[in-house]
Amino acid sequence: MIIFKKAADIGIFLQQKRQNNPKTGFVPTMGALHQGHISLIESARSKNDLVVCSIFVNPTQFNDPKDFQNYPITIENDIDLLEKAGCDALFLPAVEEMYPAGLENKKTYALGYLETVLEGRYRPGHFQGVCQVVHRLLTIVPADRLYLGQKDFQQCMVIRKMIELENLPVETVICPTLRETDGLAMSSRNMRLDKEAREKAVEISRTLLHIKSSLKAGDLSELKTAAVEQLNRTGFKTDYVEIADADTLELIGRWDGKQKLVALCAAFLGEVRLIDNMLLQA
Ligand code: AMP
Repeated sequence: MIIFKKAADIGIFLQQKRQNNPKTGFVPTMGALHQGHISLIESARSKNDLVVCSIFVNPTQFNDPKDFQNYPITIENDIDLLEKAGCDALFLPAVEEMYPAGLENKKTYALGYLETVLEGRYRPGHFQGVCQVVHRLLTIVPADRLYLGQKDFQQCMVIRKMIELENLPVETVICPTLRETDGLAMSSRNMRLDKEAREKAVEISRTLLHIKSSLKAGDLSELKTAAVEQLNRTGFKTDYVEIADADTLELIGRWDGKQKLVALCAAFLGEVRLIDNMLLQA
C-alpha cells in the first residue's frame, strides 16, 4: 500500500493508473479502524481494480470540540489493517492539505430537511462539515464508487444528496453495519468506553431490536417513549430514539403497516455519544 500525504501526489498516482481505465473504489474514514471499516475495504476490493482509503479526522464536522480532541488515533494499527485487507493507496492529509483556503468561508450545501432532523438537529453544522470533507476528498480521489456504512444512516442520505447537488459522477455503495458478538455496532468511539460502559452500551442495539419485534401498525409514540426510558434507566443520556421513513427520513408517529421504516438512536454514555439504527422490515 502506498501512503500519500499530499493531494498533488495522490493525484499524479491516480492519473498514471487511469491510463489503464481501472475502476476505483474509495473508502473515506476518520481512522481508529475496526472490522466495520475493513468490511467496506473488502467490498471495494471485490468490485474495483483500485482501492483507496482516506484517514482524516475532519475538524469541520465536530460540533463538540471535546469530541474532536478525544477522537481516538491508532494510525500504526490502521495501516496494518489496511495492508492486510489489500488496500492499494492510503490518503493521509493534514488539515492544510484538505482546507488550503483555511477553515473560514467554507462552501455550504442546500441539504434542506435532512439537516433539520435527528443528527442534523442535535449536531448543528455537522452535516455541512461532512459534505465539505467528502466533496473535497472526491475532487482529490475521483472514484467510480464511494463506499459508506449503513451505521451512519442519515450521513449516507446526506452524502447522496451532496453528490446529486454537485452532479458528481460517483456511485454510492451502502454496506451493512458490522456488530460485536453481543450486538453493539462497531464504532471507533467504542474504544473510549470503560468496562462498565461497554457492558451497558449493548442496550442500544437491544432497544432497536425490541422496537423491531414489537412494531405494529398504528400509534408509535408509546414504543418510542418506552425505548428512551429504557435507555435512560440503563444509564444513558438519550438524545433521541425515533422511527422514520427509510427512504425520506420523515419522522413517523403513526404507521400504516406498509411504509418502509428505520429506527434510529443517539445516546450518551458519560462523554461518549453512540449512534445506531436498524431497518424494521425484513
Ligand atoms: P468513520 O471513520 O466513523 O467516519 O467511518 C468511516 C466509514 O465507515 C463510514 O462510511 C461509516 O458509516 C463506516 N462504518 C463505521 N462503523 C461501521 C460499522 N460498524 N459497520 C459498517 N460500516 C461502518
